[in-house]
Amino acid sequence: MKASQFFVSTLKEAPADAEVVSHKLMLRAGLIRKLGAGIYNYMPMGLRVIRKVEAIVREEMNRAGAVECAMPVVQPAELWEETGRFEAMGPELLRIQDRHGRQFVIQPTSEEVVTDIARQELRSYKQLPRNFYQIQTKFRDERRPRFGLMRGREFIMKDAYSFDRDREGAQKSYQAMAQAYRRIFDRFGLRYRAVAADSGAIGGDLSEEFQVIAATGEDAIVYCPTSDYAANMEKAESAPPARPRPAATQPMALTPTPGKATCADVAELLGVPLSTTVKSLVLATDPIGEDGTPAGAQLWLLLLRGDHDMNEVKVSKVPGLDQGFRFATQAEIEAHFGCQPGYLGPLRLRKPVRIVADREVAVMADWICGANQPDHHLTGVNWGRDLPEPDLVADLRNVVAGDPSPDGKGVLAIERGIEVGHVFYLGTKYSRAMDATFLNEDGKPAHFEMGCYGIGVSRLPAAAIEQNHDERGIIWPDAIAPFTVVLCPIGMDRSEAVRAAAEKLHGELLDARVDAILDDRGERPGAMFADWELIGVPHRVVLSERGLKEGQVEYQHRRDTAATKVPLEQVFSYVK
Ligand code: ATP
Ligand code: MG
Ligand code: MG
Ligand code: MG
Repeated sequence: MKASQFFVSTLKEAPADAEVVSHKLMLRAGLIRKLGAGIYNYMPMGLRVIRKVEAIVREEMNRAGAVECAMPVVQPAELWEETGRFEAMGPELLRIQDRHGRQFVIQPTSEEVVTDIARQELRSYKQLPRNFYQIQTKFRDERRPRFGLMRGREFIMKDAYSFDRDREGAQKSYQAMAQAYRRIFDRFGLRYRAVAADSGAIGGDLSEEFQVIAATGEDAIVYCPTSDYAANMEKAESAPPARPRPAATQPMALTPTPGKATCADVAELLGVPLSTTVKSLVLATDPIGEDGTPAGAQLWLLLLRGDHDMNEVKVSKVPGLDQGFRFATQAEIEAHFGCQPGYLGPLRLRKPVRIVADREVAVMADWICGANQPDHHLTGVNWGRDLPEPDLVADLRNVVAGDPSPDGKGVLAIERGIEVGHVFYLGTKYSRAMDATFLNEDGKPAHFEMGCYGIGVSRLPAAAIEQNHDERGIIWPDAIAPFTVVLCPIGMDRSEAVRAAAEKLHGELLDARVDAILDDRGERPGAMFADWELIGVPHRVVLSERGLKEGQVEYQHRRDTAATKVPLEQVFSYVK
């Protein structure tokens, strides 16, 4: 590829709305361009990265025995009604209508469609195990799309679904995927950790997240440096005797408050004066009941914090609730409580958490809640007014650094990560809801045992950048770089010798299947180097008339502080 024929479009400054380094650098390096909130064009430079990620994923999925298919982006609502998720998914699910008024959804994931395929195609135990995967566009109407491709609304996911005749088989399929994921993430060349995650209503230990280690990650991950123990914060435990935790209070039933509450009611309920400042506000409703069906229970969870920009809450360890929460903006909350827009602004919290219900709800004790923000995990949360007032940093965590590891092999440490993959044992949740069966050896129908396995294909490049960058720009691992090598000829337009050598080397590299780009744009050296350092191409070869006279070029890895003189014929050993 020649740069003059490609599309290089770098920016000196990132647009003001880009908050994190990966988002800024992806915009500056011309990898993506924003089309709308959480919706991006993959520009030619960015698409090359995505395609490389896909190729690695595809190779390893095929190697692990999964078979590729593609399920429609637009899916009939009826299928989603069979599992109850048409309602239960809440506003994250984008629903659309066709000209006949029929309802469809844009796929945020594809359990329904793949289970429909299975119930039609997989009739006998002899056809099992089977694992279908796709690399496909997803849409989730995220409450707060942000950080560019990191949390987009439209994004690309690899999603795989395994079908087995029994639990034992499903566990094998799960382990095969967990292994394939390790190979995939090893090949990306990133530092990552596989951590135990909550398996929600299904229970058991068969849920792991693959987290790319990065200080800016949204998730807190807990691990033991001297053993294999690693879990996300929701799942993490420490061995007894743990540090004393704030005592959980007695749960109490909440009396519903009919009609709309005023701001004064909210303040009263929160036990705060009306005159202070709130920085964040989160409200969640739970549209599904214990058995996973829409029960109509409306649990409104209101969290206010005076000192942090908390923006998302997760509730776990309560069957069915993990998928069902709906997050609301401050404006929605104000509308719900019948306040003027902006009215909740001046409230400030004395006590960290209060939970409000607008109908009577079952009392549940000892919840764990956490936010996608540092140090925002609550344990022992109960319904009621007399919640403990824990220290915002240390005591809100499930575990803290220095706690004994549950395996007894050391103490726990905490670092931050970006969730780039997730493997999950599903059991018969979807096959039962959709009555998807096959005929077993004894001729009787049985429900498929399933697993699902996702990789955030378009999130991955953002995670790679969060982990690998410096003040000059991106530093790609070779495996996913848009180009592996850039050839920078100095004075190519003036010197025939430089032109000839650059074109020859370029051709040889391409013949050897090295992904090389020749910068023939005629930029001044400074501008040319700055562009490729920003774009993050890992290997650079500079050709100049003076060097070529001595048969030498200058090689520099993106992480090197200085260039090395290298005989022309040895370039290959540096870039391969
Ligand atoms: P998160 O906790 O970040 O919201 P998730 O747990 O909802 O992610 P999964 O349903 O497990 O996501 O989907 C599989 C993978 O898809 C995730 O591990 C992540 O890498 C990716 N992914 C999920 N949501 C997004 C998004 N909004 N933008 C980009 N990638 C995403
Ligand atoms: Mg999510
Ligand atoms: Mg997650
Ligand atoms: Mg996940």
